[in-house]
Amino acid sequence: MKRDPRTILLTLWRCLKLQCPACGRASIVQRPFYVKKSCSACGVIFKREEGFFVGAIMANVVATEVFILLVYFASLLLTNFDEQITLTILFVIGVSFPVVFYHHSWSLWLGMDHLIEGLPREKR
Ligand SMILES: [Zn+2]
Repeated sequence: MKRDPRTILLTLWRCLKLQCPACGRASIVQRPFYVKKSCSACGVIFKREEGFFVGAIMANVVATEVFILLVYFASLLLTNFDEQITLTILFVIGVSFPVVFYHHSWSLWLGMDHLIEGLPREKR
């Protein structure tokens, strides 16, 4: 499905705010570390099938690896930390970043799915 750049930017903006990528009127988060089954405003399904969450995990792993690489390159270029200190910092990032990024990885995965094929709606 072809999308115009404005729709893509709007969807990404909703993802950053952890809102429904389809309508932007409700949060995707029920409580910390628990994504709603569907949107309370428009009814699109967030958790639609077994294994759908694997994409969100993949988004989280890729984002964590990219962030670790960026921090590593920045530390090589901008600091002269001891190698052990750098590895300790990278380890702490490797453990904490996926936890902090959990909701946004779900949000980005839902937004990408919404842009590519559209999220299905609940039958009411
Ligand atoms: Zn919605």
